[in-house]
Amino acid sequence: MKKIIKNSIKCNLCGDIIVSKHTHDKVTCKCGACSVDGGNSYLKRGYANSDTDFTELSEYMEIEEN
Ligand SMILES: [Zn+2]
Repeated sequence: MKKIIKNSIKCNLCGDIIVSKHTHDKVTCKCGACSVDGGNSYLKRGYANSDTDFTELSEYMEIEEN
């Protein structure tokens, strides 16, 4: 399975890079079009227009399931 090590996007409208660090850490970009939430537990995305409003910058690590 994949473990989230960085929950991050870049807003394509204002260029802001935002990172959610905790499960309930909702972060919105400067222009307000995009948001990230969920920290390293889950990826939650918010956007005003469409999912082309942002570029995905999240990083994952493959971990073995035993
Ligand atoms: Zn923005």
